[in-house]
Amino acid sequence: MRARFPAIKTFDSFDFSFQPSIKPTEILELQHLGFMEFQENIIFIGNPGVGKTHLAISVGVCACHQGKRTLFITCHELLLRLSSANKKGTLERVLQRYARYELLIIDEIGYLPIEKDEAYLLFQLLNMRYEKHSTLFSTNVPLSSWGELFKSPETAVAILDRLVHHSRIFRITGKSYRMINKIP
Ligand code: ADP
Ligand code: MG
Repeated sequence: MRARFPAIKTFDSFDFSFQPSIKPTEILELQHLGFMEFQENIIFIGNPGVGKTHLAISVGVCACHQGKRTLFITCHELLLRLSSANKKGTLERVLQRYARYELLIIDEIGYLPIEKDEAYLLFQLLNMRYEKHSTLFSTNVPLSSWGELFKSPETAVAILDRLVHHSRIFRITGKSYRMINKIP
């Protein structure tokens, strides 16, 4: 698989009983990729360790198996790549490349603040993908706080507007799996 997953995770190894805030049927439905037919976006929101990346990769693995051009990238790395292309004068080409993936998984929005010019680069990419291809996001920041996360609240609103318009949002409110059996 060339999707650059950081590890291979599948729905089979996800313990749904540990996260009762999400319905297994709604999550498992994603493996049929119906959302991609309608260019819907997927958003996983939750605290660290609740399984956002695990589920994001699981969806990505299904997409790869069904022959969809898929890429997994952290938000931080994506912004670095877009900023560097912008400086080198190759932004248009790099945007086109990321816009062409049938499924783009952008992991970890919110761990680092997003500067104004970075927000605009992300906006341009999402605008190119809007109603053409699905994008899957994971974030630890509730959508209502994205205005503060992005140093440009207007761009955050424009991004959210496109993102949320056709989307399936999953709020995972359970405990961190990393802490399992670690805290008495
Ligand atoms: P997040 O991205 O939300 O911070 P991860 O998806 O990276 O969390 O999960 C942290 C670790 O715990 C990973 O190794 C993941 O495979 C595992 N994990 C998380 N939730 C579950 C779960 N419900 N069942 C099985 N493994 C899980
Ligand atoms: Mg994660």
